Amino acid sequence: MKKNLIPGIYNYCDMWCEQCKYTTQCLVFQKEKERRIKHLENDEDPDDINSVLEDVKESFQEAFMLIKEQKGELEIETEDVGESKFITAPDFTKYNIHSIGNEYFSRGIELLESLSKYYSLIVLCCDGEDVVYDEDSLDIKNNIQILSYYTHQVFSKIRRLIMELEDKVMDEYLLEARNITAKIIYIALTRSSEALGYFYQLENGFEEEIEEMLLLTNKVKDELLSLVPDVENYKRKYFD
Ligand code: SF4
Repeated sequence: MKKNLIPGIYNYCDMWCEQCKYTTQCLVFQKEKERRIKHLENDEDPDDINSVLEDVKESFQEAFMLIKEQKGELEIETEDVGESKFITAPDFTKYNIHSIGNEYFSRGIELLESLSKYYSLIVLCCDGEDVVYDEDSLDIKNNIQILSYYTHQVFSKIRRLIMELEDKVMDEYLLEARNITAKIIYIALTRSSEALGYFYQLENGFEEEIEEMLLLTNKVKDELLSLVPDVENYKRKYFD
């Protein structure tokens, strides 16, 4: 392992690498960088689905070999793994946070489409190809990025949290994993609310939709607090 890497730091983050200060110390980021370089050197598009699938296959093989090695070293009983309920999908519908989160996701996508059109209009108003963004349009761009990233992330993290809550293997690792997932959702909702507040004060004609989104954001947060009451005070290693 490279000297400056922080082991397992990627277990605590929200995976928004463009905004992360730990890229040089993160194995996941470094691996992704190497992956992209390898494809570019071979004149391949790193984002092409075939490149991605090939890489996924390789990383599964690597992980499998690693598990085999560790299993040999640690003498892990295969049955231990079998106890985890992670393997079967839980009944998501019994959690209110799942249905509200689903609505948050669909409404969020609709609003983003409208806001993105609004943002494109601002860009189109500028002359020439070298668009110089003023402070306002940069703010719009940044806030759209925040909404976009977290709208997509909240729902997938909600599903992950439910899976972690349903897992009956109550160990320290799992409790920590639940807290981390809940905290990431909490921060995503807080930052989304701030971005929504920004667009609200622009009075660009989307006030009604924004109000609905703010309401949904608060509802998801309430449900989250009922599932993980201490989420506000929990601090992730490295990030909070
Ligand atoms: S720790 Fe930072 S660089 Fe690494 S995966 Fe997370 S966000 Fe990306």
